[in-house]
Amino acid sequence: MVTTPDYSIGEKSAVAFERARKLMPGGVNSPARAFGAVGGTPLFIEHAEGPYLFDIDGRRLIDYIGSWGPMILGHAHPEVIEAIVKAAERGTSYGAPTEAESELAEQIIAAVPSVEKVRLVNSGTEATMSAIRVARGATGRDKVIKFAGNYHGHVDSLLVAAGSSAATLGVPDSPGVTSGAVGDTIVLEYNDCEGIRNAFSEYTGQIAAVILEPVVGNMGCVPATAEFMKVLRETTAADGAILIFDEVMTGFRLSLGGAQQRYGVTPDMTTLGKIVGGGMPLGAYGGRGDIMDQVLPAGKVFQAGTLSGNPVAVAAGSTTLRLLRDDSPYDYLELIGERLENGLARAAAGAGIDHQVQRVGSMMTLFFNPDPVNNWTDADRSDRDKYARYFWGMIGEGVYLPCSQFEALFLSRTHSEAIIEETISAAEKVFQSLLD
Ligand SMILES: *Cc1c(COP(=O)(O)O)cnc(C)c1O
Repeated sequence: MVTTPDYSIGEKSAVAFERARKLMPGGVNSPARAFGAVGGTPLFIEHAEGPYLFDIDGRRLIDYIGSWGPMILGHAHPEVIEAIVKAAERGTSYGAPTEAESELAEQIIAAVPSVEKVRLVNSGTEATMSAIRVARGATGRDKVIKFAGNYHGHVDSLLVAAGSSAATLGVPDSPGVTSGAVGDTIVLEYNDCEGIRNAFSEYTGQIAAVILEPVVGNMGCVPATAEFMKVLRETTAADGAILIFDEVMTGFRLSLGGAQQRYGVTPDMTTLGKIVGGGMPLGAYGGRGDIMDQVLPAGKVFQAGTLSGNPVAVAAGSTTLRLLRDDSPYDYLELIGERLENGLARAAAGAGIDHQVQRVGSMMTLFFNPDPVNNWTDADRSDRDKYARYFWGMIGEGVYLPCSQFEALFLSRTHSEAIIEETISAAEKVFQSLLD
């Protein structure tokens, strides 16, 4: 399906990938990095600075993935790096409490409306896995609703994306995930209010939690409608189910308080990752105090971690959140986001290409799709082949986009207005080349 890129990548990356493939499955430590959705060989990175990635062949690229979300301040922000170095000099892990953990917890609680108490973990996956367990423990119920096209990390019970608008019980997406692990997972279509109401009338009193990305990044950028949010909040509250916003991607990105602050909808629990660690491995889950007090040792739901609250990761996260609070980037990100959105849309329209540019703040996707994308069924109709050619064309112009039609691009505060203009000019050129 995917065209092989005519753009030939650097020799050193090709050699590095050969070596890596003998050592690691597919040559990578996380599958998206292998460029499977666009074909060709991944670029190996040597270093990064501000809005740029530098590959091992000495090429400089404008980076629109920002490590898939965390780098909202740009790469290697001097104050974040300094905090990391200073923390490391005091020792890299103690397995005992620190005041810095309370400092970060205070910052999270102050910023995110739904969070009264929080637990730090090591990744977004750990955050969602733990939140589901706590929701089940707190409600004494088993079933969980998720939405097709929403990604919550590689948690067994949530690795089900296949689904139709009917309330079907999940079938596993990955070998190794047992039908037992997903047997209590109900997959619904995103933005389908009727689907929610039907599931709650069919399984009244049995649903522990509904988990969703309040703005989806993981099928490309797809926002929840106001109506969908309202129905979710009302039905879960009426039934005593826990509403979990997975804000691993949107947290501290769509506003300091995440999507929940931007949309004015307060869930019962929230999962965080990516930006909260400032580029270090750190995640968090939090929510209502009575729910969080179910977690051991306050309560009985088990959840632990040798490196949780790691001082180096906490230093990076805490410094990042402080910089976001004290010098808000969100107006600027909105400005350049709008400019890029308009520029890409104009360039695609000028070339007569069917497209939708969908954006919320500093996350955005250009879908090669004639119709608006509101759910996975819509997203799935996008032209993946055209995206692959666009991706490689843009690499040729020095612009590094997400290597899949179904991922959002991210802006950082280091993306200058000149960089945005440069990107739009590159896209104009590339769209013309897609016509033949
Ligand atoms: C990235 C992501 C995760 C998983 O986080 P990891 O740190 O990769 O485990 C979970 N949920 C959402 C919405 C994400 O974007």
